[in-house]
Amino acid sequence: MHYKVTCTSCKRPFKLYEGEEQYKQFKERKSQLFYCEECKHKIRFDAIRNFFS
Ligand SMILES: [Zn+2]
Repeated sequence: MHYKVTCTSCKRPFKLYEGEEQYKQFKERKSQLFYCEECKHKIRFDAIRNFFS
């Protein structure tokens, strides 16, 4: 069981699988913003970089 969503950042479609945090948010409609693995890593990296700059 999975949902197909579009990444908010790169606009590429990807899948949310059961058990993932974003899957829960999608199911409960808590969030409209979803990020693929690649963008999640990028965001995390940017956050760390901003923290140290
Ligand atoms: Zn993405």
